[in-house]
Amino acid sequence: MIVVMEPGVTPGRRDAVREALEALGGSVVRTGDATQDVFVCVSNPRLPDPEVIARLPGVARVDVDVTPFPLASRAVRPSGTRFPLGTVTVGAGDPTIIAGPCSVEDRDGFLSLAEDLAKAGAHALRGGAFKPRTSPYTFQGLGMEGLEILGEARRRTALPVVTEVTDPRQIEAAAAHADVLQVGARNMYNYELLKELGRTRRPLLVKRGPSATVSDFLQAVEYVLLQGADRVMLCERGIRTFETATRNTLDLGGVAVLKRETHLPVIVDPSHAAGRRELVAPLALAAVAAGADGLMMEVHPCPDRALTDREQQLTLEAFTHLVQRIRRVAGAAAEPVAPRRAS
Ligand code: PEP
Ligand code: MN
Repeated sequence: MIVVMEPGVTPGRRDAVREALEALGGSVVRTGDATQDVFVCVSNPRLPDPEVIARLPGVARVDVDVTPFPLASRAVRPSGTRFPLGTVTVGAGDPTIIAGPCSVEDRDGFLSLAEDLAKAGAHALRGGAFKPRTSPYTFQGLGMEGLEILGEARRRTALPVVTEVTDPRQIEAAAAHADVLQVGARNMYNYELLKELGRTRRPLLVKRGPSATVSDFLQAVEYVLLQGADRVMLCERGIRTFETATRNTLDLGGVAVLKRETHLPVIVDPSHAAGRRELVAPLALAAVAAGADGLMMEVHPCPDRALTDREQQLTLEAFTHLVQRIRRVAGAAAEPVAPRRAS
């Protein structure tokens, strides 16, 4: 149930409504933004009688027919969520570019790549220290050592760092060295991990599971929002379909749905969707044209020697060229600004 308060309602009336919702068995999990107070009330254990709530002073509207993802829903914040990440604002229009290797493999290689990426126009660095691999016999990431290398790259370049956490026990260390904590596609259904990450109040990047519907994805994201996470990026990285020509099928329709139905910024990862480096650029450009708020791409100093995801990582040169094209496509796809009327 969503309770929308009248604009400019007094704090006293707002608090009285919150108390009534709780006294009647509901649990209030979130209020709206600065322009309008909105309560999202869940049945914990019971949903209050909407007719009783609608009659309380200051209540403008009560919606009972709530989506399965009330906190992510665009209705909560129609203007969309934006937040600073390093020197850019995610969700503000210009695509946020996150780049780096699939895995952090060695200190010197990562640090020098990080500096090159900063010069090439990346806004944030990525790199996995804890790798969720299909086979337990392949490289699993450098773990703590990888986090320390990420932290050093962050200090040297002043770029924020995105890294994946695969277990709640890694959160504290990852939060000490990275700015954005990533939930990998395989862990989208790991609700205990999601809850723990939500409690950190850190910026999060949550990837869609390879076989998750948009609704499954958004309901998983509710877990972090419910814990108070308020800087959350949704990441479309391709889903598993009957098609085998690409590693995963990039769901651009899903991107358009996420943009329309949620207030959260949407980041597209064309690397894991493509699986082949020559397909990364077209998918990245299409994503920007479809309204993505940013891109996360894998770049390696020498892709043919990468320890993970060798086929899909871009060379620095290809990335540098792609950034120019992304900027042009983003400029062309931006909503035209209405001309000012002469007064
Ligand atoms: C990654 O981003 O490094 C990764 C493992 O991707 P995904 O979770 O999308 O497979
Ligand atoms: Mn990868």
